[in-house]
Formats: sequence, C-alpha cells, structure tokens
Amino acid sequence: MSLTPEAFSGRVLEWFDCHGRHDLPWQRPATPYRVWVSEVMLQQTQVATVIPYFERFMQRFPDVASLAAAEQDDVLALWSGLGYYARARNLHKAARQIVAEHGGELPTDLEAVEGLPGIGRSTAGAILSLGSGQCHPILDGNVKRVLARFYAVPGWPGQSATLKRLWALSERNTPPLRCAAYNQAMMDLGATLCTRSRPACHRCPLQNGCEAYAQGQPTAYPESKPKRPQPRRRVNMLLLENEGALLLERRPPSGIWGGLWSFPECEPGADWRAYCRTHYGLEPGKATEWEPLTHIFSHFRLEITPIQVQVIPSPGQVMEPRDTVWYNSRSMLTRGLAAPIERLLAKWSEGDPL
Ligand code: SF4
Repeated sequence: MSLTPEAFSGRVLEWFDCHGRHDLPWQRPATPYRVWVSEVMLQQTQVATVIPYFERFMQRFPDVASLAAAEQDDVLALWSGLGYYARARNLHKAARQIVAEHGGELPTDLEAVEGLPGIGRSTAGAILSLGSGQCHPILDGNVKRVLARFYAVPGWPGQSATLKRLWALSERNTPPLRCAAYNQAMMDLGATLCTRSRPACHRCPLQNGCEAYAQGQPTAYPESKPKRPQPRRRVNMLLLENEGALLLERRPPSGIWGGLWSFPECEPGADWRAYCRTHYGLEPGKATEWEPLTHIFSHFRLEITPIQVQVIPSPGQVMEPRDTVWYNSRSMLTRGLAAPIERLLAKWSEGDPL
C-alpha cells in the first residue's frame, strides 16, 4: 500500500506528538545559530555524544559574533574528541563569512545558506525549517534510512541516482504545514525506531505500508557502501620529552587533523634520531617504543608507533621555525587534540618518566 504524502506525514506527525524528542538542548530555544551548530555536530555523531559538546560550545560561543571572533585553536579545543575536525574548521570559517557578508546574521535564503562552508542542502533545509520556520525538505542519514526502507529504494545513497530518488521522496512527503515538526519527527524516527541494525518495526507508525518490512528484510535498505580494502598508513610519532614536558606541534591547516596539535611524525623507515636533530634541534637520548595503536579514519587506517624519547637541545643545531609548544601534565591544555593524541598524552601523564 503506497501512502499519499498527507497520510505519510500525518502518521509521522501523530507519532512525533506522543513520542518525538521535544527537549533537546538545541530546541530550547531553536534559533538558526543553535540549530546550525547542532546539525553540524550531529553529522556522523550520535545525539547523546553531541549534547555535552553542544552545551560547552554554546557557553563559550553563544552567537555567531563570538564564534567568528574566536581563534581557531579555541574552536578546535571545544571539538576535541568529536572527530571529523573539518566540521569545526568550516563552522568557524562560515561564522566569519556571515559576519563579513551577512551583517552577522545567518542568511534566510536557502541558496545563501548552502553557499556557506560545510553546509549542504540537507543542513541548510534543517536550519531554515527548524530555526526559521520555513518549509524545506531535509535528507540526513536518518531520513535516508526511513525513506529507503519504506519505499524499498535500491542502491547505496552515495550513488547519484539513489540520492536523487530519496530527495524526490523527501520533497514529496514534506508537508507545507508543520514542516519543522515533520523534519524533526523524521530524524527522531530514524534515530530511535528505524535504527541501522535493529529497527523496532512493531512500534513504527509506518509499519503498515513499509515495503522493506513487508519483504521481511528492513535492514537490507539502504544498501551499504561497496566495500574496498581499506588502505593502511604507518607512522612513528615522537614523544620528545625534556624536563618533564612533551613537544607538541600544530598540524598544517588542512588534511587530517588540520590545525590540531599533535606529536612530531616521521615515516617508519626514517632515521628518527637524525630527524630530531635536523628538524627540531634536539639531541635524542634514551628511547622507549610503546605498543602501536590503530586509529580508523573513514578512508584509511592509521597505525601509530609512539616512541618516547628523552631529548636535550642539540648544540650547534637550530630548531626550524615551527609552530610548537612544550606541554607538561600540570599545564592546562586548551588546544584541539585528536583522540589518539589525547590518549597518548594521558598515558604519558600517568606513566613514569624515562
Ligand atoms: S516499519 Fe520498520 S523498516 Fe519500515 S520504516 Fe518503520 S522501523 Fe523502518
């Protein structure tokens, strides 16, 4: 049974009124700025993880102006551990663009919102519907899953034909009235009932009419991204220690962990002792190799071998001009760190110095 758009949205809204989420931090109040920050944080991240990050972020940056005026380091520090740091860099860049080009207010025109760094069509639709009361369809991961299952849409949503079909279904079903509630309801339905691996179809308002359910295989939709062997990259990370402090270096602004603070790195086959002297003007002494650790990115695996090395300034060698800082476990670190770096620092702080 295929539902009319009115019947589809009607069932979803009725369910939302009783079972939807009405007290998320970004709903109190749902301003365009708060919705924007929450939507960006929620890309690739679960609500429960996002909530404390969102609250800290709002305390420090309550509006576009405070975010635009901040140093990138401060923004990345509040993002530490949330991953996908390009989201934070884009948020910061977009805030500056809003101040420079839109008088400090988020634009209210869909195309202008989509023109900001890091904002795609779905996020723009969510900002303007949830934050400004306009009517635009959305298609985040949760909505894609509900629609792909209800209509048994074949293919992986990363393929353009599948994506186009899902957008068409979202446009078709989004009601002109109560659009914000409907969008929130679809996200809630995907996050709480129509979940990735164990959908609760017995409680779903769309069960009657859902094609994937009728086929007895809800989790077959949407199809997964075709698997390719994940490339592997290996790196040595040098924990250079002098007088109870470790050397941290800021990474280049783009690329993985762009703008975050990390340890000096060198290729596994390279002579890291010579590297310490020539790049950092430091003479390496006693060294200990730690257990390797693996960090999984969306497109490759990074295998890290940490090497803790006692160093002293190397006579006759000058440190290259680099963005570095000596960190000791007593100093407050208010800089952005990727999760594995944070773990290594914690381990180092707990352990016996060399
Ligand atoms: S019936 Fe099951 S598969 Fe279909 S939309 Fe509802 S929860 Fe998802």
